[in-house]
Amino acid sequence: MESSVELRMGAAPGPRPRRFWLRTFGCQMNVHDSEKVESLLLHSGYTAARSPDEADLLIVNTCSIREKAEHRLYSDLGLLRSWKEGGPGRVLGVGGCVAQQEGDALLLRFPQVDFVFGTHNLRLVPALALAAGEGQRVARTEERRSLDRFELPIAPPELSRKNPGRAYLTVMEGCDMFCSFCIVPVTRGREISRPAEAILREAESLAQRGVRELILLGQTVNAYGRHALRRGNAEATGTLAFAELIRRLAKLPGISRIRYTSPHPLFFDDDLVAAHGDLAPLCPHVHLPVQSGSDAVLRAMRRRYGREQYLRLVTRLRGARPDLALTTDLIVGFPGETDRDFEDTLALVREVGFVDSYSFKYSPRPGTAAASLEASQAVPEPVKQARLEALQSQQKSLTLAAHRARVGTRTEILLEGESRRGGQLSGRDPYHRIVNLSARAPGSFPPGSLVPVEVVEATPHSLLAEPA
Ligand code: SF4
Repeated sequence: MESSVELRMGAAPGPRPRRFWLRTFGCQMNVHDSEKVESLLLHSGYTAARSPDEADLLIVNTCSIREKAEHRLYSDLGLLRSWKEGGPGRVLGVGGCVAQQEGDALLLRFPQVDFVFGTHNLRLVPALALAAGEGQRVARTEERRSLDRFELPIAPPELSRKNPGRAYLTVMEGCDMFCSFCIVPVTRGREISRPAEAILREAESLAQRGVRELILLGQTVNAYGRHALRRGNAEATGTLAFAELIRRLAKLPGISRIRYTSPHPLFFDDDLVAAHGDLAPLCPHVHLPVQSGSDAVLRAMRRRYGREQYLRLVTRLRGARPDLALTTDLIVGFPGETDRDFEDTLALVREVGFVDSYSFKYSPRPGTAAASLEASQAVPEPVKQARLEALQSQQKSLTLAAHRARVGTRTEILLEGESRRGGQLSGRDPYHRIVNLSARAPGSFPPGSLVPVEVVEATPHSLLAEPA
């Protein structure tokens, strides 16, 4: 295992182009990181394999936000031992949040792993793969404050063909909030914001390539530029207030939709709220993580807002954009959560009327403040499970009611391709709902088109529509 070997760029030499396969777990940030790795590999002369069996290089991009995801990786790596042994010269790399956390330990524990790269080291993947081909096992997880992490080569056309109308655009990375349950500040490092000019340049080139919808990404995306603004050095760092950044992006020709994810409820200044009323391209949907509806739990989570403050923010946002659709993240069974606390969460979800939510059972993450509470205040597993089921069942009814209220209305979808079940074209509307087109009209609506539709039917997971 070597962490100090000198790395060279380029694809491993061989009689034919080397082929790669990427397996991604976790959030949009991870999905976008995999896109960047894919782009780097294509630029380095690799080609995409059609299946893991065909690949010479297999990379697992991992997630450590919950215990379950981490365990899944470990069982996956066990299975990948036979993949590795299935062909000569096969190289196995592990990246993402678990890699950032574990580093060298992954090489020690799993002899089948050839290299490990952290969340700040995507650029090194081709060189690490090359070194692995030459027999060196290397882990690189050093955190670099450098802005060059943002400036990766523009994705080649074969990548953009996958979802031509929509693209992720990283505006900041890292998190300084240190919520007591969350490992992200450790795995993704401290907040760093990208200069606005570089963001606008990338957005422009995406628009020229046919991208209509930009999804601005960051762990606490609306914290973008906040430290520089507070210190008075926004100009020197080339950053802006987040709302101003959105206003400039909204002026770019060709950009019809802008979203951002995930914001922190603390960083909605008046201008960002007003932007939801002023800017037509800013989608009427905000994913606004609340985590709990109980003040006591929010305090223990160190979320830095209370229930009333969150509800006031919802009112302000809906004041600016009355048809705003809200979705959220929730954790049940946080250490010390009582039945009453949980009732408060159920009540808050009803009061806001979230269109959808992503809810999870609390699992302690090593190195977080809340992990130490688990020993004395753990909520028993069956209670966690019952709460999760109650929350999800309530959400199912809310989602279905919200979908039914849309029947008979008109909207516009950005087509992505075939629906999950096949046989229908599918896309998302501005409210971020999945909309399937009832009539199949191949060719008339290629992926990436914006199609005006009328909603004709509602299901718990999606809407059914006809071209209007
Ligand atoms: S704001 Fe809290 S939950 Fe979100 S990434 Fe930062 S520490 Fe984690």
